[in-house]
Amino acid sequence: MSDEANPFESLQSQIDEAANYLDVDGDVIERLKHPERVLETNLTIERDDGDLERFTAFRSQFNGDRGPYKGGIRYHPQVSRDEVKALSGWMTYKTAIVDIPLGGGKGGIALDPDDYSEAELERLTRSFAKELRPLIGEDRDVPAPDVNTGQREMNWIKDTYESLENTTEPGVITGKALDSGGSEGRVEATGRSTVLAAREAFDYLDKDLEGATVAVQGYGNAGWIAAKLIDEMGATVVAASDSSGGIYNSDGFDPVAAKDHKNETGSVVGYEESEEEITNDDVLTLDVDLLIPAALENAIDADLAEDVTADVISEAANGPLTPAADEVLEEKDVFVIPDILANAGGVTVSYFEWVQNRQRFYWSEERVNKELETIIVDAFDALVETYEEHDLENPRTAAYVVAIQRVANAFEEAGSWP
Ligand code: GLU
Repeated sequence: MSDEANPFESLQSQIDEAANYLDVDGDVIERLKHPERVLETNLTIERDDGDLERFTAFRSQFNGDRGPYKGGIRYHPQVSRDEVKALSGWMTYKTAIVDIPLGGGKGGIALDPDDYSEAELERLTRSFAKELRPLIGEDRDVPAPDVNTGQREMNWIKDTYESLENTTEPGVITGKALDSGGSEGRVEATGRSTVLAAREAFDYLDKDLEGATVAVQGYGNAGWIAAKLIDEMGATVVAASDSSGGIYNSDGFDPVAAKDHKNETGSVVGYEESEEEITNDDVLTLDVDLLIPAALENAIDADLAEDVTADVISEAANGPLTPAADEVLEEKDVFVIPDILANAGGVTVSYFEWVQNRQRFYWSEERVNKELETIIVDAFDALVETYEEHDLENPRTAAYVVAIQRVANAFEEAGSWP
């Protein structure tokens, strides 16, 4: 399924590629290839049976030149220092391409949350929040959900922070439940930007989204919402997968019913509207108009990329293509909407949540969705302008050119400090 691409090296090669088109000093580029700091901490909690267990956790603060560090916290066995560093870098360029006044950060704990009870996860999350407390804050570093974390974990972190600080500061974290200071539209935001970006790309390429066929790899929060929204826009979702396998129906299926099936059984596999069970790799190489990778990094390596037949890819996941896969797809003229734009809806609505928390004034869902659409459309236009101006072959490079320039400007305008 995936090669051994190190995500941090992938990030650095994406920056190097864009640097060829930028008028930014090489020393500044060097700064923008490394995190400012990384916290590595060991958390020891008591299991329900009384045993102790140790977990390794990280928080990488990649860049704060444009505002407080911003980015999620994931719970996954694959979490490592390099993965978190890469993800925090991608956040930096994500907040820059959508031009919201935030920097980039990311955190994670290496574990499979399915192996732990809710009470154990609460103890672990609060223990991490305690370690994070001196580093985070609404003007310092604002975490959010990521893979296998959601409102529940964000509410725990907010409560731990506020209790220890003896204050109310809902803007210390985003992705909270509505009654705990969350924003309307936040849960759907990543999937929403993935399809808004796809809509813009289809329009740019003069392709019809109505009736277009779509395959979605990964049926978590981003993937299933993207499937639901693209179906509502008139496209036909023909395939979907999760870690247990994939489903396929050439006439399309109801993405919401497929999600209901996953909620009941743990997987999309076995869903009654599926004509055929297929593998994850099959989903990625199906002959569809639009492919949405919505799982983890490195889903498509160079070998698999040779077999990809989609015309457009909208990256709901972070880092789903290796740099070698990118080269193959560029040769094949596949239009790849990069993760830092396609999935930026999550952090954009996190930004709206943070604004609302600070103003103690809350917006309607309609307003959230409208402001999100404006931001994604503007970011896509900025990408296309640079793509055409430099005659680039890869929209990803265009996104990095725009984003790195913005971060470099903020750094250089700040002047020097001893
Ligand atoms: N985890 C999401 C991402 O990768 C959202 C981050 C946020 O809202 O800060 O973009």
